[in-house]
Amino acid sequence: MGENLTRKILKAHLADGRLAAGEEIGIKIDEILIQDITGTAAVLHFEAMQLGRVRCKVACSYGDHNVLQVSEENTEDHVYLSTAARKYGIWWAKPGAGIGHQIHQEHFACPGDTALGADSHTVHMGGMGLYAMGAGGLDVAVAMGGGPYYFDMPAVVRVSLTGALRPWSTAKDVILEMLRQKTANGGFGKVFEYVGPGIQNLNLQQRITICNMGAELGATTSMFPSDAVTRDYMRRIGREKDWREALPDPDAAYDESMELDLGVIEPLVALPSNPDKVVPVSQAEGVKVDQVMVGSCTNGSYTDLKAVAQIVKGRKVHPDVTFFVHPSSRMDLEALAREGLLTELIAAGVNVEAATCGACIGVGHVPAKGMKSLRAINRNFKGRTGQKDDEVESSGCARRARRCRRRSTWPTIRASCPPPRPRTRRRCG
Ligand code: SF4
Repeated sequence: MGENLTRKILKAHLADGRLAAGEEIGIKIDEILIQDITGTAAVLHFEAMQLGRVRCKVACSYGDHNVLQVSEENTEDHVYLSTAARKYGIWWAKPGAGIGHQIHQEHFACPGDTALGADSHTVHMGGMGLYAMGAGGLDVAVAMGGGPYYFDMPAVVRVSLTGALRPWSTAKDVILEMLRQKTANGGFGKVFEYVGPGIQNLNLQQRITICNMGAELGATTSMFPSDAVTRDYMRRIGREKDWREALPDPDAAYDESMELDLGVIEPLVALPSNPDKVVPVSQAEGVKVDQVMVGSCTNGSYTDLKAVAQIVKGRKVHPDVTFFVHPSSRMDLEALAREGLLTELIAAGVNVEAATCGACIGVGHVPAKGMKSLRAINRNFKGRTGQKDDEVESSGCARRARRCRRRSTWPTIRASCPPPRPRTRRRCG
């Protein structure tokens, strides 16, 4: 019997223990990601170890959560992180460069590597064939110093995808369907490995969205193989030399398995206030919304925002609605600008914010009490917007944008879809 991709990567990085589900193992970490909230503590821990320069393959520090520097403490953290980065051999991405997961995907992530981040959405990198996990600051500091990361060997779930997404269904709907079936605790102690003919119909950024929100399933991580789709994406962003094939064996064994036909997944929405409170978008038809947001590491990529720009072109945001976007990275923002897509967003009355986590963690656009906010983000837990009585619905970016199918519209959720547009060639993935 062959091996699944999870076992292959873990075996190649095993430092301690035995690869038996539920047993504690220690693995060597190749890539480290930290950010400007939890990362500050991680670097302080690392400094206290007095090891000198970092001893992993690559360590990156991203100023992405407190980009607006709304207090002097934020600015002080950035100064500390940037000077520590220089001293210890850590790459530093200053505020405005984008959200760490997306920047890391674009510049550093190498298929087949292990990655550890002081942030739960580090699992994002699974879309490129990395075994990536979130952890606490002390664990991350130890891994930065070359020490193994210890955790319980997860059970590996084979998710066999067939078919292709229908027009107006998105990658976000795939992971919302997973959440509908498995619930927010359904992934605990598990890795979801996506395989099957359907994966060829998902581009790299769609794979990333699905793995990113594996965090909402409670999964240890999620992974797609690194294949021709991955290679094509890396070629387009000028990193083909970093591409490596990472595939499960054709006869690989798994602890559990499930099937998902992409062709039957309909547009879905997570109602307030949990990502697994998933219903068909038709059930939310008629709900008046006050805010619309597309962004975060889940849905703020070039691919996501291009879809939004194409739909709002020549239309106007409804006067009763605030519509804002947070691009995932400056690279994505620059691509949108070069292709004139930014102009379409601005002309439609969309507030184009900095490439930052921003409103995903309640920095800006805090809704007033009783307001309804529709957001293409990963988490709609109560209070995450900065308003403890918020009502946030979470769904895919295309659905948000389609609310403007008429000129000056989208105060309400519309369940009907406009006719499918011809597919356009995408720059990334
Ligand atoms: S965009 Fe949101 S989910 Fe992603 S890293 Fe930032 S705060 Fe976390």
